[in-house]
Amino acid sequence: MAEAKVTVYGAYWCPDCRRSKRFLGEQFIPYQWVDIEQDKVGEAFVLQKNNGKRTIPMILFEDGSFLVEPSNAELAKKLGLKTEAKKIYYDLIIIGGGPAGLTAAIYAAREGAETLLIERSGLGGQAGITVGLDNFPGFPEGIGGQEFAERITQQARRFGVEILQAQDVEKLMMEEGYQEVYTSDGRHYHSRAVLIAAEASYRRLEVPGEDDFIGAGIHFCATCDGPFYKGAKEIVVVGGGNSAVEEGLHLTNFAEKVILLARGDKLSASQFAIDKVNEPASHIEVKYNTAVDAYEGQDSKLKTMKTRNLKTGQTEEIHPAAAFIFIGQQPNTGFLKNYLEMDKYGFIRTGHDFVHDKDGKAHVEALAFETSIPGVFAAGDVRYSSTKQVASAVGEGAAAAISIRDFFA
Ligand SMILES: Cc1cc2nc3c(=O)[nH]c(=O)nc-3n(C[C@H](O)[C@H](O)[C@H](O)COP(=O)(O)OP(=O)(O)OC[C@H]3O[C@@H](n4cnc5c(N)ncnc54)[C@H](O)[C@@H]3O)c2cc1C
Repeated sequence: MAEAKVTVYGAYWCPDCRRSKRFLGEQFIPYQWVDIEQDKVGEAFVLQKNNGKRTIPMILFEDGSFLVEPSNAELAKKLGLKTEAKKIYYDLIIIGGGPAGLTAAIYAAREGAETLLIERSGLGGQAGITVGLDNFPGFPEGIGGQEFAERITQQARRFGVEILQAQDVEKLMMEEGYQEVYTSDGRHYHSRAVLIAAEASYRRLEVPGEDDFIGAGIHFCATCDGPFYKGAKEIVVVGGGNSAVEEGLHLTNFAEKVILLARGDKLSASQFAIDKVNEPASHIEVKYNTAVDAYEGQDSKLKTMKTRNLKTGQTEEIHPAAAFIFIGQQPNTGFLKNYLEMDKYGFIRTGHDFVHDKDGKAHVEALAFETSIPGVFAAGDVRYSSTKQVASAVGEGAAAAISIRDFFA
């Protein structure tokens, strides 16, 4: 893990501390957490810096400067994240800086298209929070997700892609033949074409107590939050697919034991991963046919998970140090509702089935990766029928950029 350059002083019961920690985590900024309820030296430091007040979160930076109770926008500014674009008009605006968006940006900018990429969270997308990529061609020993994200971002910058961070695209509309892209800071930018390469976000269990303990015992990213549980006795992982199994295996680096709660009576991960779980020294116990009914806490921190065996109805209470949830994702396309055609889950439909009007008369088949709106393209995990892998997201990003070139022509 990268060395922490930021220290967050706070307390487990403080919602603003959780917000700040979440923001730093989303931006892939390594930070050290000091709970001033537990750490008397930390508490004294906060009192000293705040004129005797116990105001938290207090965030200390490498250069010795600090912010007290900062908003996310203040934090972004302090961290030097670029949140405002240089111009208001671009050839291409890309929404999402995961493998698909960054690859498309490399292709488009390299061919001279003025390209703005807007990312709300950490660059690299889901690939950036993955422990390691073992199946991306060209890296025989595998590559760390964070390193992969840094490399692809560096390559995009090399070709002049302008990148905004900590900005959420909230609305997209067409105005006089141009796309208008609205960001969370109230600004908007225009472009000839847009590529949507937004992600699918983590699905939650939607059971009582969940909202209360997210970031305070309930997590969705083992790479980001696993190290906080170094030396823990037990961690629970919820899910039975590839992500749950792989991340569960990774979490055994921190906890003495990982309990995997699978709803079904078998795991649906790759055989390779299942074999690893079944190794006698894996430190993973699998509980099949098990659902989580509720989370309960103490002092605003997760303490208990109430589970139920779906076959026998038998209930149980477990007291893990943390629960990591890996039960799939849902597309983040709410901001496109009523604009584009999507499937019932919100994945964006693209391709030749759509027929577009050109110049008000001629009907033309949509280009590959083009959506129901001419000039708006989609690639990667957010696209209906995509295969949700880094290699395919990269391939879709490249192919979409070539279609966008045809659209410009
Ligand atoms: C834990 C885990 C392990 C994985 N392991 C592997 C693996 O080993 N091998 C493999 O091939 N794949 C793996 N995957 C899957 C792989 O990471 C994804 O398929 C791939 O990252 C998809 O790329 P993408 O660019 O389409 O989307 P993403 O990587 O999801 O990137 C989309 C980006 O869009 C941003 N965004 C979304 N909405 C907005 C908005 N409105 N405004 C601005 N930005 C927005 C998001 O913040 C995100 O950064 C793993 C995924 C996870 C979660």
